[in-house]
Amino acid sequence: MNAPKETRRYCPHCKQHQKMKRTVYKPGKARENMAAGWRRYNKKQRGYGTQSKPVFHKNAKLNKCTLPIFTCSVCKKAWHGNSMRIKKYEIQ
Ligand SMILES: [Zn+2]
Repeated sequence: MNAPKETRRYCPHCKQHQKMKRTVYKPGKARENMAAGWRRYNKKQRGYGTQSKPVFHKNAKLNKCTLPIFTCSVCKKAWHGNSMRIKKYEIQ
């Protein structure tokens, strides 16, 4: 899906329509091997032997969730758009 870089949308802070910049939400990188589950898994995987826990392969959902973020050009506040499952989301 192609989406324009700038749109006019309602800003709840300014209480009127403003020009907004569109970007895509990117989740922050997980702090690998820090969570309790990860530490437990690594402890189990250590040493000799095979894969200790099953590896998930049968993923039913093929498309990833995309969440557009609109940043107001006046107050610089960011608002979430409607999230959707699509293969490709391009901002022009
Ligand atoms: Zn605003």
